[in-house]
Amino acid sequence: MSELSYVTGDCHSAWSTYLTQVERVLPLLGDLSRWADTLTHPKRALIVDIPLEMDDGSVRHFEGYRVQHNLSRGPGKGGVRFHPDVTLQEVMALSAWMTVKCAALNLPFGGAKGGVRVDPTTLSHKELERLTRRYTSEIGNMIGPQQDIPAPDVGTNAQVMAWMMDTWSMNVGATTTGVVTGKPVHLGGSLGRVKATGRGVFVTGCSAATKLGIGVPGSRVAVQGFGNVGSVSAELFHAIGAKVVAVQDHKATLYLSSGVDIPALQTWQQAHGSIAGFPGADTIADEHFWTQPYDILVPAALEGQITAERANQLKCSLIIEGANGPTLPEADDILQQRGMAVVPDVIANAGGVTVSYFEWVQDFSSFFWSEEEINQRLDSIMQHAIEAVWQKAEALNVTLRTAAYAVACERILLARKDRGLYP
Ligand code: NAD
Repeated sequence: MSELSYVTGDCHSAWSTYLTQVERVLPLLGDLSRWADTLTHPKRALIVDIPLEMDDGSVRHFEGYRVQHNLSRGPGKGGVRFHPDVTLQEVMALSAWMTVKCAALNLPFGGAKGGVRVDPTTLSHKELERLTRRYTSEIGNMIGPQQDIPAPDVGTNAQVMAWMMDTWSMNVGATTTGVVTGKPVHLGGSLGRVKATGRGVFVTGCSAATKLGIGVPGSRVAVQGFGNVGSVSAELFHAIGAKVVAVQDHKATLYLSSGVDIPALQTWQQAHGSIAGFPGADTIADEHFWTQPYDILVPAALEGQITAERANQLKCSLIIEGANGPTLPEADDILQQRGMAVVPDVIANAGGVTVSYFEWVQDFSSFFWSEEEINQRLDSIMQHAIEAVWQKAEALNVTLRTAAYAVACERILLARKDRGLYP
């Protein structure tokens, strides 16, 4: 598909997963497929060195990235990940998924993503602040409220966004809240943003479950990842009477056939930094997470978790992708053959970027909406998106993922075609 080595992707990398997903939609794009190479060539990628003075006076260097995958439909939008395994190729994939996601939801953004190869849990508060500020300065020319708007992802949060906003504002000499989203509410953040991604997972999940004849109250739910996305999804499923029977994080896997008390687990997780040791459930071997019977599975940790081997073992009816890229393409094929529906990441976890869009709009107008208004608008956009993708999948007889890519890629390539090439 491309002669450039960096865009071909290592086998099993997130970027190669994305390339396969694009390949599968190409036959459905008609004349627009003439422009499809734009989907496989990130527009701009920056690698930066972040020298950091540690609290003990030593200096360490960290590698950071910002990738703008495609800006045909608007400014770049996408989170910043602080994680020791971050690579340029991973950030490329995550930025590409943002392009597809924003188009699938019809938000006026392109796709971007950033990251720093660091384990933030090993840094002090002050070290984390210095790292964030230097990273923000290094990518400062690329971002801006009309250019590219970062947000939180794995390992970053509202505090990190506040530091990014402050650093960028100091550098340009004017407070510019709209340069990032996911900020604290008192600094131009939006009500409802913290829970938005988990809420979107829940809303699209309920909609898909209803179509499949699964009654959510009383159903057996499993959640991998108990961070921002996983814990909020679990909380909402638990609140309407679903039994969250299995929960896994990076340290432990918990199981309770009558359903884990999710509010109690959230309190435990906040106090201990992990679900490990929670007294209200049994601890099982991590791999057994993939072999228990569930109605609904929510992978909400990292990419590449549902491998072909795990797809063959899974016993569930519906998978709702809270994480970005949790299912490998070969696993997708197996799940399809085995009759398991997958609500793809580009729809299921789009609640966060949707409320980020609301935050950006509110920052521009300096007029803020109520949480009720935000949740109503979010639910309506998410339900509309899953409905449109469901209909497309039925009409084309393809998976929900390929249908979502068809909806999104038509919009991206139409924008590309009508804007034309410069010069
Ligand atoms: P987070 O850092 O808040 O939580 C991540 C969770 O995953 C933690 O509970 C961690 O323990 C767990 N985890 C990490 N490695 C694991 C492993 N190997 N096995 C099992 N559990 C593991 O991150 P988050 O913001 O909840 O993001 C989770 C996923 O959702 C990521 O793929 C992210 O890109 C995606 N996402 C997040 C948002 C958002 O608004 N936060 C929006 C869209 C997509």
